Amino acid sequence: MKKYVLFILGCALWLVIPLSSCQTQQPASKAPKYVFLFIGDGMGLAQVAATEAYLSAKEGAVGSKNLPFSNFPVIGLATTFSANHYVTCSSAAGTALSTGSKTNNDMLGMAPAGDTLTSITYKLKRAGYKIGIATTVGVDHATPAAFYASSGKRSSYYDIALQLPASNFDFFAGGDFIKPSGKNNDRPDIHHVAAEAGYTIVRDHAAVSGVAEKVILLQAENKGAELPYAIDRTDDDLTLPQITAAAIKFLDNEKGFFAMIEGGKIDWACHSNDGATSIYETIDFANAVQHAIDFYHRHPDETLIIVTADHETGGLALNLEADVDGLLLVDEKTTPYEVDVSTYMDKNARRQERQNRIAGQNRKIGLGWTSNDHTGSPVPVYAIGAGSELFGGKYDNTDIPKRICRAMGVAFQ
Ligand SMILES: [Zn+2]
Repeated sequence: MKKYVLFILGCALWLVIPLSSCQTQQPASKAPKYVFLFIGDGMGLAQVAATEAYLSAKEGAVGSKNLPFSNFPVIGLATTFSANHYVTCSSAAGTALSTGSKTNNDMLGMAPAGDTLTSITYKLKRAGYKIGIATTVGVDHATPAAFYASSGKRSSYYDIALQLPASNFDFFAGGDFIKPSGKNNDRPDIHHVAAEAGYTIVRDHAAVSGVAEKVILLQAENKGAELPYAIDRTDDDLTLPQITAAAIKFLDNEKGFFAMIEGGKIDWACHSNDGATSIYETIDFANAVQHAIDFYHRHPDETLIIVTADHETGGLALNLEADVDGLLLVDEKTTPYEVDVSTYMDKNARRQERQNRIAGQNRKIGLGWTSNDHTGSPVPVYAIGAGSELFGGKYDNTDIPKRICRAMGVAFQ
């Protein structure tokens, strides 16, 4: 048993969130033309609360400084279980959020029996909206892929990637393709396949505005299939806020758009129980949301922003030892994590040493973790704008795409 007592933020927040009485099934008074669905992968209530505690510590006081989306007028809670497990994976949760149907863990856009499910993005595209899909991880990773692809296995990256250009959607952005030439490097390069389908691939966010139609924005070549963590990046790295700003500029048009934007590496940091990195990722995600909030202020009657998560990761809690000085140690993440390679030639020893340093820093910051994997608690849903009243109360994650369609006046079935 751990010696310290954990103060479970998630449980406490359950008590303080006003469970809205406006869980109405009434359609919005005016249908939104511009819809944003932000997904913080692994971003449960505790990830938000720990970040807000850190932001208050930066101001020198015990408290909670709201992230921009925490100020949204409507807050709901969504259950996240998959068809075959209390604890979902990102592909099953992504499928719930994109198609309104449960599936088994590791399946993507496909029912447990193998029937193909259709993402609302296809319905919205047919209804005349431009579609944007963006992430900080590979564009063919589970969450973004759930909005354009179907596969029996989320790890069938090349087959998933082939469905990206076939979707004909307008804007994609993120890390590069995970297996661009297939598992055995023997398939046509997906970049060429996309180009042949009319996509322009750009590696600079400023270049997006020079593209007339159908763009894929990827980070610089040879930098891998994900963006660096916010806490680690250098000035020339592509960022989620840059991607979001570019998406808004590119997608903005008279008929409207739907944009799914994922902060994919909050989850990765939480799998590593790396508190400082998860806090920086959550702030970066919130900075991306801020671009949508700025857009909302220009079009308040026609914009809907929803911010949620696919699941919580790590079973995070702020423990009783947390204080202002401890939380400020978040800023000292990079130095203590470096492990001298010459001292630890063995890979496992280096990994163990790094984990020990992360655990030590967690203790000093005042963060406790109960898992290296996802957990089964409900996730928050924050909403603002036209149709946002549909997102109060407690419901299932499969209800989210149904309510988006209802708000937009687009038939779900
Ligand atoms: Zn995960």
